[in-house]
Amino acid sequence: MVTNTTLEVWPIPAFDDNYIWCIHDGLSALVVDPGDALQVLSYLREKSLLLTGILITHHHADHTGGILQLLVAFGDLNIPVYGPASENIPGRTIPLLEGGSIDIAAPKISFEVLEVPGHTLGHIAYFAPLTRLNALIDRPMLFCGDTLFASGCGRLFEGTPTQMHQSLQKFSKLPAETLVYCTHEYTLSNLRFALEVEPNNPDLLVWKKEAEALRFIGKPTVPTSIAQELRVNPFMRCDQDAVRQAAEKASGQALKSGAHVLAVIRAWKDRF
Ligand SMILES: [Zn+2]
Repeated sequence: MVTNTTLEVWPIPAFDDNYIWCIHDGLSALVVDPGDALQVLSYLREKSLLLTGILITHHHADHTGGILQLLVAFGDLNIPVYGPASENIPGRTIPLLEGGSIDIAAPKISFEVLEVPGHTLGHIAYFAPLTRLNALIDRPMLFCGDTLFASGCGRLFEGTPTQMHQSLQKFSKLPAETLVYCTHEYTLSNLRFALEVEPNNPDLLVWKKEAEALRFIGKPTVPTSIAQELRVNPFMRCDQDAVRQAAEKASGQALKSGAHVLAVIRAWKDRF
């Protein structure tokens, strides 16, 4: 069957600042990290969408708490639940590892699996490249859970700064135009910190105004893009002189590698 439908991706707000992403073709829907089943159910009902799959990035309850209730609500325990192989995910049926790929029939979309430890040890991200298989999307897409945020990165609950640095480096090599679907609205507080690190970054100053305007009218500041994060995210810019110098000043020592810089600015942000 030939179709010209374009996939749509919408945020379903949950809790204080979570976004549960819904990918749909007008009929079938995937949800990413459904921490709250009720918000998802009311969204799917309102749009008359059928849930056909659940994608999980990591084990935290605000990303997984709604899985079992969604399966029961749809009365179909065969709805596939994709998630990291090395974490305990309720209801997970398809464990995923680095280099794995998944092809979903409805909505029609394919993902590559990236292991991105740091926030948790088994954390994975889902990357939908622009390929023949993904004819229904016009830009590559990344669902990165709590690894990368607009102008920030996840807290290191389980992993090391080196792991987080490598995970973010992995993202930095994705196509620049890749849309990045983060799972929290942390942008304004991330921007306050980013401007502490790089007060003279002109892209940051422009982005702060844009982000404030979006939040003022209640709109999400995400998705962002890889290109944008390479310009404004200190955690993606650990190899830039301005970020390294700020980290060296904050720590009072010379920092030899990007991972050392990330360690300093992540600890600095935790105290900020
Ligand atoms: Zn988390």
